[in-house]
Amino acid sequence: MKGKTKPRYNAAQNSIYMIRRAWQTVPSILTIAVGIILSWVAINLLELFVVPAILAAIEDADSTAAVVRRIVAFTAAMILAYSAQAYLSLNALFGRVHLRIQISTELHHKFCTTSYSNLLDTAYIERSEKAQKSTRGNQEATEAIWKTLTVLSIHVISFAIYLLLLASIDPLILVVTVLAAAASYWIGRTIRQWRYRHRDEEAAYQHKLSYINQRARNRELAKDVRIFGLGDWLRELWEQYLTLYRDFCAKSEKMNLLADAADIFATLLRNGVAYFYLIHITTAGRLSASEFVLYFAAVSGFGKWTTGILNNLEILNRQSMDISVTREYLEEPEPFRFEDGKRLEVQPGHRYSLELRDVSFHYPNASEDVLSHVNLKIQPGEKLAIVGLNGAGKTTIIRLLCGFLDPTGGQVLLDGEDIRQYNRRDYYRLISAVFQQFSILAGSIAENVAQSMGEVDQQRVQQCLNQAGLSEKINALPKGVDTRLNRKVYEDAAELSGGETQRLLLARALYKAGPIIVLDEPTAALDAITESNIYQKYHEMTAGCTAIYISHRLASTRFCDRIILVENGAIAEEGTHEELIALGGSYAHLFAVQSKYYREEAAQHEEA
Ligand code: ADP
Repeated sequence: MKGKTKPRYNAAQNSIYMIRRAWQTVPSILTIAVGIILSWVAINLLELFVVPAILAAIEDADSTAAVVRRIVAFTAAMILAYSAQAYLSLNALFGRVHLRIQISTELHHKFCTTSYSNLLDTAYIERSEKAQKSTRGNQEATEAIWKTLTVLSIHVISFAIYLLLLASIDPLILVVTVLAAAASYWIGRTIRQWRYRHRDEEAAYQHKLSYINQRARNRELAKDVRIFGLGDWLRELWEQYLTLYRDFCAKSEKMNLLADAADIFATLLRNGVAYFYLIHITTAGRLSASEFVLYFAAVSGFGKWTTGILNNLEILNRQSMDISVTREYLEEPEPFRFEDGKRLEVQPGHRYSLELRDVSFHYPNASEDVLSHVNLKIQPGEKLAIVGLNGAGKTTIIRLLCGFLDPTGGQVLLDGEDIRQYNRRDYYRLISAVFQQFSILAGSIAENVAQSMGEVDQQRVQQCLNQAGLSEKINALPKGVDTRLNRKVYEDAAELSGGETQRLLLARALYKAGPIIVLDEPTAALDAITESNIYQKYHEMTAGCTAIYISHRLASTRFCDRIILVENGAIAEEGTHEELIALGGSYAHLFAVQSKYYREEAAQHEEA
């Protein structure tokens, strides 16, 4: 599905899809569109016939009153048609926006709940972004298609009427008009195709400029920008890309100018031939003055409808491609089972066992296995520590055990059953976790602990904050647990330190009370004292649960029953701390290096 593959649905299928969706959600989109089409066709016909009709009345030497009556009738009809069109166009917006937002919500929901493995796949992310693009504004396909379909219908109906009219004079005029219209369309299409081909180039310039702009304004980077003098570098980059972008825009404008000139020439040719012919047959007495005016208007109008139809078909085609991307994304099957999986109830007090059986894994688009034939059984209620150097595969093991990734070979088992058969959302309910990258959302402290905006058990929130050693700090804040977090969103938000955030995450994991606890190197950003306090909390928290703990500080793994050392995608050593030290392998070596470092750090502390 990558790159420029053919869309699964064509323009007709996508138009029907949108019409069906409108019918199901906001049928007024369709009734209003029909009203707009009818009023525009009426306006076009009135404008075409108004002058010839009045002229005919004068030619027929009717009374002045009859001519005035005709003028008044046309004026009244025009006012009515224009008012209807304006009123309907104004009211069309609501339904169209409503449907676009509904599709956008579906896309958003799909992305937020999709199988985690998809999020590691760049091609999937690209597909989701492309799909989102079609709903991002009024000009995007899922809303703009209504305008295209409406305008196209108006043009097709008007075209049919003009066709009958022109064919009644001379087929030659028809041929010249059609040819000139086709030439105008071809010129327009060439320029659009040029733009389309260079779309990526233009987007790349804009993307780079916006990236530099974002980096320059980013608060987190502000310190680095100042210390390392990155400001000049950013400015040079900005100017360099701005120059390239300016050159591109100049090239694009030149193309536009050329196309406009060619278009004017085609129009001149069409009008020249047609008008000459009309004048010729009028002077020969074969047309009355009113008929001349009517056909004169029809010639210029006809070209407008032909190019209009072709242009709008092209626009429809492009919008259809975007809608197809959106539909295809929404219809993409999930690699994990959700609602179609076996239900899994959390059994209070039950201790779960977890197992990796002959598990191999490689990341999407990677050729080499990160893990190869790993066997690991975690007994019910066991506390397992996973250690190893960066890049050894610890996080990958956690991702597999948590059900974020499915192994490319072998099985992950919960109490002896393959977790792939379960509803993955049920499986996640079993797990309380604290990860390296944490998700503190812009909301109140209580909402963050309970991970909900609705039902928050205030007493339990307090209890968990207390257990996590954070209640003193929170209660000292003027709004207590209702204090909001994230200064980017709320001006009055509190900012928590690294250690406090860690405790908040702990409180969140405690609140969830899943029977399997996963702690993924969660103290990376903490000082030694805070860290050791947190370890104590982990120790208390994991009592009675199956727990998996990734640590970079080997000394902290002592509360665990067993330690495994991961090396080169396999379990290289395994045992208790004492056993591994006695083994004298990689673990013992790592421990010795870390202890030395800690001793030095402690000595520096004492000196200070
Ligand atoms: P650890 O947690 O021990 O530091 P990881 O499990 O994160 O190690 O990574 C193991 C290997 O997998 C590393 O070589 C890393 O580069 C690779 N890796 C991790 N995440 C991805 C990913 N999303 N895509 C491709 N490779 C990855």
